[in-house]
Amino acid sequence: MAISNELRIAVMPGDGIGEEIMAPCLELLEMVRSKVGGFALGYDWVEAGAGLYARTGEALPDAAIKRATDADAILLAAMGLPDVRYPDGREIVPQIDIREILDLYAGVRPVKTFPGMPLPLADERAHNLDLVLIRESTEGLFWGRGKSFIDKDEAHDKMVITRMGTERVCKFAFDLAKRRKAQGHEGRVTCVDKANVLGSMAFFREVFDGCAEGYSDITADYCYVDAMALKLIRNPWDNDVLVTENMFGDILSDAGAALMGGMGLAPSADIGDKHAVFQPCHGTAPDIMGTGKANPTAMILSAAMMLDWLGERHSSEKLVEAGQVLDKAVRTAFSGGDLIPHEMGGNAGLREVTGKVKEALGG
Ligand code: ATP
Repeated sequence: MAISNELRIAVMPGDGIGEEIMAPCLELLEMVRSKVGGFALGYDWVEAGAGLYARTGEALPDAAIKRATDADAILLAAMGLPDVRYPDGREIVPQIDIREILDLYAGVRPVKTFPGMPLPLADERAHNLDLVLIRESTEGLFWGRGKSFIDKDEAHDKMVITRMGTERVCKFAFDLAKRRKAQGHEGRVTCVDKANVLGSMAFFREVFDGCAEGYSDITADYCYVDAMALKLIRNPWDNDVLVTENMFGDILSDAGAALMGGMGLAPSADIGDKHAVFQPCHGTAPDIMGTGKANPTAMILSAAMMLDWLGERHSSEKLVEAGQVLDKAVRTAFSGGDLIPHEMGGNAGLREVTGKVKEALGG
């Protein structure tokens, strides 16, 4: 079905390499839009981040929140700079504030490898990985952010796990497993926790179990987070959908990016009931800013995830198709084995990767 109205995308390039990777991403989005047709996108550039804070004293102004809230989806590159901090020393991370403000509870971190890429694991199965980590993104140990209790010789951070917060993220994971099963995946959700040590984690598992009862066609199992760290290195291919607490998810998603070969390859989405942000897993990489070495792949794949999400939300096959076309173009670009990004020891940067994806799109 064609979408009559233009979908508004809040574009937040942020800091560091953010603007560099956002520009080709939008160019490719427009290419895929005109190739597939049936929908229109309007882009609203919204400034936020550490650079803005340094200039104005505000990292995420109310007007920026309003424009992001009013948009149909948010495309964000990266925010934060190591030398720009709040007076108390905390990093400036408006992307985490946005997650909280818009109640984006499901952090979606796909771990999908590219055949033909040099990967840390030699096993052939590591070249065909396709699993998804779902990170609860509104509570858990991150709940304590900005609320630490620090005495002279003691520091406390509080972890909060609620029934509502756990139920909705587990339901999200089971729904995703169901959708993936229809596409040929196993149909399994693994609860990654530390239920053997922490009461809060036993509670997380109990709520997970309750959710699983509503999905008789999906297998539900468990894995302690330390065992999952081992499994992601030893046999990551034995996973389908994982669901976990915020901090565990933060750590494991970097392991997932490593399995893909590098930070520049790992896309992500933070999804709530009404809003969603799509952004690469990596940070602002100030060390390579302006050198042309930034890899835009994760940014482009995040845009493909955005098209898919918008397609599901607006029941538009054209948008879903556009997401698939963009995702496939990225994979085609790398399939020859001659496009190796700088971060993986090759010499492909922003220009080379973008050029190859354009070529794959027929541009
Ligand atoms: P944050 O704390 O914001 O997540 P970080 O300190 O973990 O950030 P990143 O900015 O993600 O760090 O960078 C980690 C390393 O990965 C850096 O050496 C950086 O150059 C590299 N890197 C990150 N993103 C990319 C990219 N898109 N292309 C190439 N290299 C990247």
